[in-house]
Amino acid sequence: MSELVTSQKSVLIVGCGIFGLASALEFAQKGYQVTAIDIYEPPSPWSASCDYNKIVRAEYENDIYSKLSVEAIELWKNDPKFDGIYNNCGRVMITPMSFKGRQEFERIGIENLQKLGKALDIEYFKGGKKMSTRFPFLKYNSLKSDEQSKFNPYGGLAHSSNAMIAVYNEAKQLGVKFIFGDDGYAKSITEINGQAAVVCKSGKTYTSDNIIVGLGANTGRLIDLKDQQSATGLFVTFIKLTDDEYLKFKECAVLFDAEMGYFFPPDPKTKLLKIALPGIGSCNKVNDPHSLSNKKISLPRFKNLNPNDTIPKHGEIEAKLLLAKYIPELAYHKLIDSKICWIGDTQDSDFIIDLIPGYKNLYVASGDSGHAFKFLPNIGKYIVNKVEGKLDPTLNKMWSWKSGTGFDPSKCSWRVSNYYPDLSEIDFLKDVKAKL
Ligand SMILES: Cc1cc2nc3c(=O)[nH]c(=O)nc-3n(C[C@H](O)[C@H](O)[C@H](O)COP(=O)(O)OP(=O)(O)OC[C@H]3O[C@@H](n4cnc5c(N)ncnc54)[C@H](O)[C@@H]3O)c2cc1C
Repeated sequence: MSELVTSQKSVLIVGCGIFGLASALEFAQKGYQVTAIDIYEPPSPWSASCDYNKIVRAEYENDIYSKLSVEAIELWKNDPKFDGIYNNCGRVMITPMSFKGRQEFERIGIENLQKLGKALDIEYFKGGKKMSTRFPFLKYNSLKSDEQSKFNPYGGLAHSSNAMIAVYNEAKQLGVKFIFGDDGYAKSITEINGQAAVVCKSGKTYTSDNIIVGLGANTGRLIDLKDQQSATGLFVTFIKLTDDEYLKFKECAVLFDAEMGYFFPPDPKTKLLKIALPGIGSCNKVNDPHSLSNKKISLPRFKNLNPNDTIPKHGEIEAKLLLAKYIPELAYHKLIDSKICWIGDTQDSDFIIDLIPGYKNLYVASGDSGHAFKFLPNIGKYIVNKVEGKLDPTLNKMWSWKSGTGFDPSKCSWRVSNYYPDLSEIDFLKDVKAKL
């Protein structure tokens, strides 16, 4: 049972993505008076988690994140608001032996997870034959006889848009006041009586005892993050299964091939099967809004305002080759609804959850680095702890403000891709919208 704050302290949440919604709910549960603003109602098309499904996994090189993930997975499984949203379908992983960094990341990740008493039943395979009998959806896979793979039944996926809606609804019930549109579109930070305040597009200005800014990849537009975060565009695409195909493949696990990409079981409502292409990334270099020089930083260019931002043309071949290797029966499908999706990358992939230097009431909760969705059930607790000065010292240090770190994808051991071209260098695929 969480302790209630005695006087009704106020909190302003700026951005209703994963960090924002999770903290809005947690602050409300603790008795704070909460206002939350965003340009769009959840699931915002600008949120990296506005999607069908995301991986919920607990293998991490850093055992602190393993513990946090296990805590989150238990909530995904047991919190009634996530019923029908979380699917503990497990994950099949295929990583070429030549991907040394990724191999090591997975080995240590499994070790960390097993130290926590989870995933003790991981299955290991060599070649495609055994896989085809163990997993009906992989019946016609063409893994070579020396290719290694494993299946971790601990974890799976969650429908990320529906998960955000579930948290949004609960926060509303607990009295959180949500404001969207131009009144919720944060444009700048000002000061009123020595306290930070947020100025929105309509001119409305809000202040509060505590302000939490969580604008995801877009955080650097409002706050000078001093080179700690860089917006990375990742690419996803979909195929729409027929009713028969849906029935045949609905029970599949998440399949993650570190070289080729990954796909999910089809969505029950739309029958869309999501394919992600982690081998391709991008950036969008623009003038740093906080610098008077010509300094460039990467900030997002959102697909809803730029409908041609799909996936690079070569992504079509990559998505088809992935399907052809694992589920060749589905490789004939046209790709639809392809899109770029933006994350806020940090060099060490650690989040930034800290008071912004120079302010007494302005915090940032960002730096998701492409792995924050899974923490929707529990990250709010840690953000509240930070504001209340009770955050565990190790987490406090790990998520602290680290000016000037920059971002170079080639220095991330777990990244599949190490070069992110600018959007201006990308030849985008023309595809069509799904008929739902
Ligand atoms: C392709 C892809 C695959 C991913 N896969 C996984 C996965 O499998 N597992 C996992 O755990 N994570 C995954 N992620 C990462 C996850 O989606 C993000 O880590 C998470 O959404 C980040 O949360 P956030 O709160 O920082 O930002 P977001 O969720 O992006 O939310 C930011 C919010 O800020 C709002 N906003 C932005 N600018 C303004 C403004 N100026 N004024 C008002 N509001 C504004 C937006 O509307 C949005 O609601 C993936 C991301 C991508 C792109």
